[in-house]
This record gives sequence, structure tokens and C-alpha cells, in this order.
Amino acid sequence: MPDTGTLPRAAAQQGTEHLDVLIVGAGISGVGGAYHLSHQCPGTSFVVLETQESFGGTWITHKYPGIRSDSDLYTFGYRFKPWTTAPIATAAEILKYMGRVIDENDLGPHIRYRHRIDAAAWSSETNFWTIDATNIATGEPVRITTNFLWMCQGYYRHSEGYTPQWDGMETFKGTIVHPQTWPTDLDYAGKNVVVIGSGATAATLIPAMAEDVGHVTMLQRSPTYFRTGRNAVEIADELRALAIDETWIHEIVRRKILHDQSVFTGRAFSEPETVKRELLGAVRSYLGPDYDVDTHFTPRYRPWRQRIAFIPDGDLFQGIRTGKASVVTDEIERFVETGILLKSGKQLDADIIVTATGFNLSVLGDIDFVIDGRPLNFADTVTYRGMMFTGIPNMVWVFGYFRASWTLRADLVGDFVCRLLNHMKQKRAKRVTPSLRPEDADMPLLPWIDPENFNPGYLMRGMHLLPKRGDKKEWQHTQDYWNEKDEFPAIDLDGREFVYG
Ligand SMILES: Cc1cc2nc3c(=O)[nH]c(=O)nc-3n(C[C@H](O)[C@H](O)[C@H](O)COP(=O)(O)OP(=O)(O)OC[C@H]3O[C@@H](n4cnc5c(N)ncnc54)[C@H](O)[C@@H]3O)c2cc1C
Repeated sequence: MPDTGTLPRAAAQQGTEHLDVLIVGAGISGVGGAYHLSHQCPGTSFVVLETQESFGGTWITHKYPGIRSDSDLYTFGYRFKPWTTAPIATAAEILKYMGRVIDENDLGPHIRYRHRIDAAAWSSETNFWTIDATNIATGEPVRITTNFLWMCQGYYRHSEGYTPQWDGMETFKGTIVHPQTWPTDLDYAGKNVVVIGSGATAATLIPAMAEDVGHVTMLQRSPTYFRTGRNAVEIADELRALAIDETWIHEIVRRKILHDQSVFTGRAFSEPETVKRELLGAVRSYLGPDYDVDTHFTPRYRPWRQRIAFIPDGDLFQGIRTGKASVVTDEIERFVETGILLKSGKQLDADIIVTATGFNLSVLGDIDFVIDGRPLNFADTVTYRGMMFTGIPNMVWVFGYFRASWTLRADLVGDFVCRLLNHMKQKRAKRVTPSLRPEDADMPLLPWIDPENFNPGYLMRGMHLLPKRGDKKEWQHTQDYWNEKDEFPAIDLDGREFVYG
């Protein structure tokens, strides 16, 4: 941890609490960060501040029917805590798992719920951050100073999802709902429902609602790739039948899944047409030869340019087969009193319209950042390996993987942060700021993510708010777990890209 021994605590306002590390957010990343700190940097004082009333982040925010992971929990779960059941898990199961991690490691006393961080100001004079938060329960302002900020606030605004504005929305007589703010008392039994969207959320909602609704239509502008299969990992079941220790099973299954994913990703790049045929073939096997897979399930982009959601037991397709669910691929002309008029001239009647249209990107948790009195424009910075930023001292952001489970990276970043904090302590350094090296002077600065490589809507809409990327791996979020797992532990913390003070 940064050297706190000589920290000018007197410089902090009297009565202001001072911490070695402040973690923002108690989602999977923040709870993981708390675990890593307590194990790898014992003696570090730290607190997790979380806006919501409990831990979980994504898994407590989303309450829509059927809410579940779209990647497996052996890799979405932490490296250090075995996952012991079926790989695709419900939000409730993920919350239970995270609750155990908190209890078993006594992390609860470190987490303060219903605290929203509003502002963070760095001072190079004192070498610490001043954090202004609000205690939501009392409305009172809370001020904390901290040496190091560990940003685990995710990447989207939790309070409200993204809903495009369509003409005539106000004329619609039914109910419009966004999955991110799902009213728990919404009664959809026997109702005619249209779900706008074709991503993982739509694909989860539709089978979960299909049994109860009159009919549910997935209205998409363009199709998405899906993978299907049993919600099981054969090798896990076999090892479990042999009474192998769960810690071993966790590690073996993680390696197996990661190996298979690596092969799949490699093939998606090297033989996209074959992979496309395989993915579509699986969909066809559920929907039968007469179904128009070309129109409704054949995307225009290459496999893997967007996250591929896993559909356990093909439940989305089973709903379509039974006739309770259907897919319409068209564009919205406008909303009308009874539903949606499509560009083709067709009309979809609905009692409820669900806008599964994605997120609002939130950079840095909607916190106003100030560095030495100057408001920070995050887009003016260059990312150091997708976790630190040029000119921003003592701060790390956990931004996980898209093509592999987010938590794989949260664990890797956790190791990196702890190594960095221990290194700073050893050096008696109070701050570390990533900086471009002389050899980076003429480096082209590019958008955060290469849209040719990965282009989901919320990132495309918010790219101008995100830091820049360079053309060297130090200055990129490579989205490549298979390299980063070896590279991160080998990062030379005395490299010229780290400026200590
Ligand atoms: C429905 C859904 C399903 C998903 N499924 C998968 C999956 O299967 N596999 C996968 O890899 N990824 C999945 N993702 C992506 C997922 O969001 C991440 O993998 C992961 O949950 C992110 O965890 P996190 O802790 O980094 O952020 P979040 O889960 O977003 O949590 C961030 C927390 O920070 C808090 N916070 C934010 N700003 C502030 C502030 N200013 N002050 C205080 N607190 C703040 C928020 O309230 C929130 O609780 C899914 C996303 C969604 C929306």
C-alpha cells in the first residue's frame, strides 16, 4: 500500500476519516477487491462504499423475470471460491455465492451500503483523494480521504437503462418497462407482450415470461448470435461423482472451459464462416427446417464481434417452437395507441412493451473527478492496460472481459493492485501515475475499443467519453485473458510507464 506512515494526516480536515484504500461499488468486482486486499495486503485500512442497499451490483439491480448469467459461473465466479452447481446461474444464486464470500472472509464490516460517491478530488500536495459522498439513508454528506481509489463501479448507470425515444411513445395506452427498472408487481399473465431487443436480456426474459403471457414477441432490428447447450459441464459432474474435492473441480473446470473458449474464439477469427454455420445449425436443430433462421437468427456481423449469449437448453427456441413466443425482424416506425407500427407497415399490438435496449454507459460511476483543482476529462487520458489512466494518480478501474467472464479480469486486476500497493509501501512512494514514455510520444491515439473488434451499442454511444488507447499493449485494454493472465503478474512495476512520487 502507499506509505501511510508519514502521510500528513493532519492535512486532512479534522475529523475526516482517512483510509489506505477506498473501493467504489460492492458488485462482483468490489467484493473481489475487498477479498484480495484483505488477503494480499493485510493491515490495509479500507472501506467499500456502495449506493445500493446491499451487495451484488448487476445482480441486485436487475430483477426482471428469469434474470441469470449468460456466461458460466466457474469462470464468472472468483478464482478463490469454488462454484459447485450448474454453470448458468440465477441472480439469486450469484447473490448467495457472493454473500458467502463476504461472510467467510469477514468483509461485511468493511462495506457501507447506501453511500453514493458524488465527487473525488486528488491533491498532489497531500497525495490523497478527498471523497464526497452522500449517506442516502440520512441525506447527510460524508467526507473521506483515501490514498488509493479502486474503482469497481462497473460500466453502466444502475439507476436507469437506455431507452431510445421513438415517435408516438406517449400515445401508447399500455405499459412501457425497461428490464433494468422492472416493477416487481408487473402483472403480465395472459397479456400480449412485445420485447424490443435481441440481446442476452431479451433472450432471458422471453422464455421466463412465455408460460404466463398470452403471447410474447421479440422485436429486433437485426439478429444476434446465440450458443445453446445443456446447463451442465460434463467433466464437473464426472469429477463430482468421484467425490473429488470442490477446490480441485473448480480449478479443473475453469481450465477446461477456458481452453474450450480459447479454441472457439480462435476459430471465430480464423474460420468465421464455419463457426457461423455451426451456431446457426444449432439454432435450426431447435426450430426445425421450416423456420426462417436466415431472417431472424443470422446476424450481419462476424461471430464474436458482440458478446455471444449462452441459451441453456435452448429455452428461447423452445418458446418459439411452442408458439408462445415469436420473433419479428423489422424496424419501428412509431408507437401507436395499441402497440407498435413497423416500417414494413405491419402493426404489433401489445399490452406491455419491454425495452430491452441496453445500458447507459457510466464512466467512473458518474463521479465528478478533479485532479489538482482541474476537472478531469476522462477522454483526455490514455489507458494503461485498461485499468489505470495517464495523469490520474493512485487509481485503478476494474473493467472486465467481454468475450470471457468479467471476473477473470477482476481477479487479475486484484492481484495487480495488491502487488502495486505493496510495491509502493516498499518504495515508500505516496503516489503512482501512469505516464506515456518517450518512445510513446508519436503513438497514434485511438478509441478505447476497436469497433471492428467489438461494438456493442452502449460502448459505441459512449466512446467519446472513454479514455484513448495506443497501439502498444501497455496502452490497450486487449480483451485477451489468455495473454493477460501471464503478462499481468510479470509487469515490471519499476517500468518507465509508472511515475512514482
Ligand atoms: C443482466 C446482465 C447479465 C450479465 N451477465 C454476465 C455474465 O454472465 N458474465 C459476465 O462476464 N458478465 C455479465 N454481465 C456484465 C456484468 O455487468 C459484469 O460482468 C459484472 O457484474 C460487473 O461487475 P462489477 O462489480 O464490476 O460492476 P457492477 O455489477 O455494475 O456493480 C457496480 C456497483 O457499483 C455501485 N456504484 C456505481 N457508482 C457508484 C458511486 N458513485 N458510488 C457508490 N457506488 C457506486 C453500483 O451501485 C453497483 O452496485 C452482465 C450484465 C448484465 C447487466
